[in-house]
Amino acid sequence: MADQTLLQKIFNDNNFTDYRWIDPSEIVVAQWVRMKCMYGCDSYGRNASCPPNTPPIAECRTFFSEFRIGAVFHITKRLDDPEERHAWSREVNRSLAELERQVFITGYHQAFMLFMDNCKLCRECANTRAACRNKKLARPCPEGMGVDVFATVAKFGYPITVLDDYDQEMNRYAFLLIE
Ligand code: SF4
Repeated sequence: MADQTLLQKIFNDNNFTDYRWIDPSEIVVAQWVRMKCMYGCDSYGRNASCPPNTPPIAECRTFFSEFRIGAVFHITKRLDDPEERHAWSREVNRSLAELERQVFITGYHQAFMLFMDNCKLCRECANTRAACRNKKLARPCPEGMGVDVFATVAKFGYPITVLDDYDQEMNRYAFLLIE
């Protein structure tokens, strides 16, 4: 049984204060998400933690079914300069990796984070898992694991819309699978 009070303290201590507890079986996984990765995303084949370097959709579903509790983190940002997005994502994803580490060493050996954006821990990403420059910390983003983020976060009352301009506030989501 997860100690939610202790986990809440870890989340808050790491400045991730906007979150909801989730039953990972409520995460919506869909084949269309993988098609959007394959046809329409620049990172396909160019990021060591994005498709085709993530499991097939059926295996993603199995992965989520192995957890009983998790958390979805809501992260917002508005940037004047769109070029700052990469540095911001790198910084947030590093903090999320540290959050996963702290939950892991607290005793949740299954803890696994899905970053709020594609990995970006390195300035230049390798193209394959074998060549990844930071195999211990790299994690996929929810979309890379077939998560329909729109349908999933709507279940928890969070906002999400397609943005048509870079100067709009972004609503990003990371998922921590706990046990
Ligand atoms: S750790 Fe670096 S090389 Fe590995 S997936 Fe992330 S950005 Fe790419």
